[in-house]
Amino acid sequence: MKKYELPQLPYAYNALEPYVIEEIMRLHHTKHHQAYVNGANAALEKIEKHSKGEAQIDVRAVLRDLSFNLDGHRLHSIFWPNMAPSGKGGGKPGGSIADRINQEFGSFENFKKLFSDAAKTVEGAGWALLLYDPETDRLVLTQVEKQNLMHLAELQILLSLDVWEHAYYLQYKNDRATYVDNWWNVVNWDDVEKRFSRAKSR
Ligand code: MN
Repeated sequence: MKKYELPQLPYAYNALEPYVIEEIMRLHHTKHHQAYVNGANAALEKIEKHSKGEAQIDVRAVLRDLSFNLDGHRLHSIFWPNMAPSGKGGGKPGGSIADRINQEFGSFENFKKLFSDAAKTVEGAGWALLLYDPETDRLVLTQVEKQNLMHLAELQILLSLDVWEHAYYLQYKNDRATYVDNWWNVVNWDDVEKRFSRAKSR
């Protein structure tokens, strides 16, 4: 049976410098993301063994593990291409996502402030996300504590920002706000636009 795999980064580990240093990117991708991939596969394996009558499992613990690790894998798989190398990323969005942001949030600056505040004020480890909800045809800004997304499974993620300490501590220490402010320099708006088009056409 097919397993979850660690996707390759779409750029070099040092491509986001000076905003996110190589050491962070290397650890974040090869250790943290890899651990979520391994954790999701291990949980599935336990369920598989249980289904074959080969093992007893604590259902609640295994499903919690699966959700935590699989959602971690999914979020990081979006987070990496949501960013582009320094010099190529950042700036303002274009295309239909720019129009939509202006329409729903008043201006890009308003949106940027709101999204940054969401990221800066996540309690403990978590994420800031911009989602598209097809039911209302609207953008939805949200905060996620840790990375359990079960309640959001149907919504398409357009833009994600990891604010777990492992995403910034080696460089920014406890100054999450500066990390968030600098992160805007590496946002890949082409990728966000692509996800928005795909989400609307579903
Ligand atoms: Mn992370």
